[in-house]
Amino acid sequence: MIEMQRLGCGAIDRSHIGSHVELNGWINRRRDHGGLVFIDLRDRDGLTQVVFDPEHSAFDEAHSLRHEDVIRVRGAVRARPAGTENPRLKTGQVEVEALELQVLSRSEVPPFPVNLDEDVDEGLRLKYRYLDLRRPRLVRNLTVRHKYLKAVRDFFDANDFLEIETPVLIKPTPEGARDYLVPARLTRGSFYALPQSPQILKQLCMVAGLGRYMQIARCFRDEDLRSDRQPEFTQIDVEMSFVEQEDIMRLMERMMIQTFESTLGVTLEKPFPRLSFGEAVRRFGSDKPDLRFGLELADAGAIFAGTEFAVFKSTLESGGSVIALRWPGGGASSRREFDAMVERAKEHGAKGLVWIALGADGVKSPVAKFLDDATLARLREATGAETGDAILIVADKTATAHSVAGKLRLDVAERADLRDPKAFAFCWVYDFPLFELDEETGHWTFTHHPFTSPAPGHADLMESDPGRARALHYDMVLNGVELGSGSIRITTPELQQRVFRALGMSDEDIQERFGFLLEAFRYGVPPMGGMALGVDRIIQIMVGESSIRDVIAFPKNQQGRDLMLEAPSPATKANLEELGLRLTGEQR
Ligand code: ASP
Repeated sequence: MIEMQRLGCGAIDRSHIGSHVELNGWINRRRDHGGLVFIDLRDRDGLTQVVFDPEHSAFDEAHSLRHEDVIRVRGAVRARPAGTENPRLKTGQVEVEALELQVLSRSEVPPFPVNLDEDVDEGLRLKYRYLDLRRPRLVRNLTVRHKYLKAVRDFFDANDFLEIETPVLIKPTPEGARDYLVPARLTRGSFYALPQSPQILKQLCMVAGLGRYMQIARCFRDEDLRSDRQPEFTQIDVEMSFVEQEDIMRLMERMMIQTFESTLGVTLEKPFPRLSFGEAVRRFGSDKPDLRFGLELADAGAIFAGTEFAVFKSTLESGGSVIALRWPGGGASSRREFDAMVERAKEHGAKGLVWIALGADGVKSPVAKFLDDATLARLREATGAETGDAILIVADKTATAHSVAGKLRLDVAERADLRDPKAFAFCWVYDFPLFELDEETGHWTFTHHPFTSPAPGHADLMESDPGRARALHYDMVLNGVELGSGSIRITTPELQQRVFRALGMSDEDIQERFGFLLEAFRYGVPPMGGMALGVDRIIQIMVGESSIRDVIAFPKNQQGRDLMLEAPSPATKANLEELGLRLTGEQR
């Protein structure tokens, strides 16, 4: 009997020439050519060319093969004839001469071509996700994801962490989103909540004395979906006892450096730059600055201190800010392009935008008459703008001016092509405000979550001046994307209670929702802190995908629907009765 080796379709190379192999896979392509049938056979690993010639019994059946049929082939590996090699294919030097063919399954014509890397309507891709997942790009993404998570687990294992699975049917864990509720059949009228994060449970692991916890944890947040969100997502969730902020930041930074190295072979620059929240907002107009490029914002308040231009003047008089930004190469923009930039600024929340074009043929601006040479020279110096560039200026309440200028900074970077798609620019942002004002309700809400400790000396501000209280809270940012947050936690029942109260909760409410936590804090609690990083976002940036859905095997669409499973779907009457539920009102 001939010795037969079963190989993956991407595994065959010159070293196999002369040996007999068995391949299993899907028909990627069939060509009938010069009296021969050529098949590109595909599996997860790649493609191999299989040749059927009329001398073998399999030839006739090979003629009938169609895209996506599943076959088993046995044959001999040989070098491709000179001149027919395919250097773009890993297996492109060889082919398999088919001796035996077994058709394992026939495919209907797929709803979209699986073998072409062309754009297909996403709804169709998600409905037939099992076909979409046959495409090499998605296979690569899932492979990187697998390798990355393995590296993460190895890192934490080597650093003495335990991976602990926390339950998914729990009680609400506030992280600023709505909860998914699950009706409890055995306690009619009661509901479990799916975790927005394992936050409380990992803290209780610390109370338990487990010391170092990690989990690749699924979290559920019922939010109005934006393009980069999913209702369920995965976090690298970490908690440690007897540590300070610095310990956690260092460990998580080391984890990132090591796992990027082992997954992608890239060496990240260390240490990651650190910016306080205030500095990040002042310099980049954002608490998640994209540091792949410079373009810092300039406070032009002093430059326009004596201006007669009414908008700047009144802004400065009322305590607002005038913020300027360089637009590299923007000096040659047309009137229409500037108008478009003004529209962008309005979309970002500004009332307007002043632009100054530093063209080779002179300076142009709608406010040119207010700009003398000295003012222009100071603006150039403050923003770094040169002839050929433009300067954009936003005047508004300070927070608005920064945030609009920060968003324009990204628009400008896009237009001037300043972002290196291959770069990984990490940074830390720390020293966040403990609370922020909810514009809709006018109430204070937590910036991170209610378990975050105020910075030393800031606890009393919670009652006296909540907006000024700072927190021991830090974020890791990559290329302008917040990968995740962490904090040192509150560990006394008194302080925890004060935070809940500052957030407007009544004592009864506190007791009902968090009584178990306050009680736990009475039985010996270590100082603790931790962090969670979004896996989907990390992988998305690693592989350079524009949608988070492309790094998740079975994602939901932007309406939170799984188009393949057709979930969510209505419950049957019997289901509802069993749960003691009745539907009221309109169903969508
Ligand atoms: N639970 C937090 C979050 O999901 C992370 C943390 O504080 O550890 O953002």
